[in-house]
Amino acid sequence: MNNINRRRFLAASSLTAIAAAAGKTNAVTWRHEPGDDHRGPLAIASGNGLKAVERAWELLKQGRDTAEAIVLGVKIVEEDPNDMSVGYGGLPNERGVVQLDSSVMHGPTHKAGCVACIENIKTPASVALEVLRRTDHVMLVGKGATEFAVALGFKEENLLTERARKAWLRWKANHGPNDDWLNPEQMDWKFDENGNGTHTAVAQADTSEIPYTTGTIHCSALNDKGELSGCTTTSGLSYKIPGRVGDSPIIGAGMYADNQIGSAGATGRGEAVIQSCGSFLAVQFMDMGMTPTEACTAVLKRIADRTKQHRLLNDKGEPNFQVTMYAMRKDGAFGSACMRPGGTFAVCDDEGPRRLQSVPLFG
Ligand code: ASP
Repeated sequence: MNNINRRRFLAASSLTAIAAAAGKTNAVTWRHEPGDDHRGPLAIASGNGLKAVERAWELLKQGRDTAEAIVLGVKIVEEDPNDMSVGYGGLPNERGVVQLDSSVMHGPTHKAGCVACIENIKTPASVALEVLRRTDHVMLVGKGATEFAVALGFKEENLLTERARKAWLRWKANHGPNDDWLNPEQMDWKFDENGNGTHTAVAQADTSEIPYTTGTIHCSALNDKGELSGCTTTSGLSYKIPGRVGDSPIIGAGMYADNQIGSAGATGRGEAVIQSCGSFLAVQFMDMGMTPTEACTAVLKRIADRTKQHRLLNDKGEPNFQVTMYAMRKDGAFGSACMRPGGTFAVCDDEGPRRLQSVPLFG
């Protein structure tokens, strides 16, 4: 850390200490003095990642590389048919096909590997790790990603469970206006007969809440050498338009890790996270001296401020969708914030695995 950054970091640490002394309620009690040296091993994840952080932490304790530890941690959730948001059992796209997205970033080498719209492979994070390790590329998509996985010995199998297929059939029978194709009155573009579009500054108000089914697992880990990595894996938005890529496999959007600063990840409405480079921004905010929770909250404020479409806002002008951000700093400080109440995150360190509440931006 250079001197300026270190100074900012220490200034922020004392602010956090002051806030804590003033009894400011944070969802997380900072066990680590911010600005202090790292105190790994530590793993954090989205709220559905309790088993993932526990597994990752055990592997870190055994000296396993941080990227390997988190990929093996999230694999438990990817292979769980009862988690309908990730890997096997994930909800399909509008055609009934499960397409998965994942990214891994390895702090010590600053390398990334991602797969998007991969089909028939249960564990996309493991494939993303192989892209990172075995290729000079960062992202493989669709058929190419599946072929790459099969070439490495990953088993091709049908990922659509009976439960997910029935949920998809129910959606098909009822979806009406709630698919991802905007109705003319939901668009903020008008087209003439030649197809030329004009942006309408204020889209027609439509405050109906759009029911998104979201779910993803993010996991970041820090070892006792101060090395860190991040990973995000998902089946994406349910009933999405085939070929849709969410934020999860996009470096800087659904996940970002910088070994000198920290790691961050996102779950929730990927479109909003992509358009604000959410995870990269969270890491940048930590570099500017914010605590992880402050950095997560600042990203959500940015997203809220830049959300213009009426269909995505409630009658108070707040985003009506959920995004939860997770962040971990190199010194072992960690936190999470969510756009709407209800977000949770999982942590495992030497105090064991536990689930904590993310700090909501809006009530
Ligand atoms: N962020 C994921 C996506 O947009 C979905 C989710 O987290 O629920 O694909």
